Amino acid sequence: MIEENLRVVLRSIEESRAKRKLADPKEPVRLVAVTKNHEVHEMREAIACGVTDIGENRIQEAREKFAALERDAVRHLIGHLQKNKAKYAVSLFDLIHSVDTTELAQVLDKEAAKIGKVQDVLVQVNLAREATKSGVYEEELQPMLEAVDNLLHLRLCGLMCIAPNYENVEDVRPLFRRMYEIFQRTKEFPWKTANIIYLSMGMTHDYRIAVEEGANIVRVGTAIFGPRQY
Ligand SMILES: *Cc1c(COP(=O)(O)O)cnc(C)c1O
Repeated sequence: MIEENLRVVLRSIEESRAKRKLADPKEPVRLVAVTKNHEVHEMREAIACGVTDIGENRIQEAREKFAALERDAVRHLIGHLQKNKAKYAVSLFDLIHSVDTTELAQVLDKEAAKIGKVQDVLVQVNLAREATKSGVYEEELQPMLEAVDNLLHLRLCGLMCIAPNYENVEDVRPLFRRMYEIFQRTKEFPWKTANIIYLSMGMTHDYRIAVEEGANIVRVGTAIFGPRQY
């Protein structure tokens, strides 16, 4: 099941990449298999099928599952992170997608310094200004990115967004297109240490559109592992 689902997702990503108009169709897309609320044996199976990147959204759950995993993958934190868990986040994850305040960035920097790590991070943008979602508003983005760029133990690698769940999935396209424009503009800024290479957007229901509009990381759970049991 996982193997077949994965094949379908990878094929869809390739098809969507070929349809890109603004972004480079040749630029590859990284698939993060989102394993939250799924069992360790499902993570194992996905990794055995060639998955190289896994995503979790909760520290405690990730900690237990990673400890049980023999063969590793690149680990992504995709969920909202509380400052008091920053310490665990830097010890567990390769890329943190969900940095949403300067205060959180500062705490992560401090914790990364303690373990002698430079932590790769993305800044989460709340482009649709949804009250239920975290992320910085567009007008706060540039100052926040500059603040993160100044932190020596964080390496700013790009931007992340979670789109609203529209009834008609096509309605999300202008938003993804706008994110891509912001990403391009961000790439061109003369940063001190940041290396802006990732635009993380797209989940099961909208990753095809996200890839068409220039996402180079997609975070897909349900389409690979089936529905989550809560
Ligand atoms: C759960 C989650 C996903 C994956 O969602 P699916 O709809 O199952 O693909 C992606 N990104 C974030 C931030 C998530 O929390």
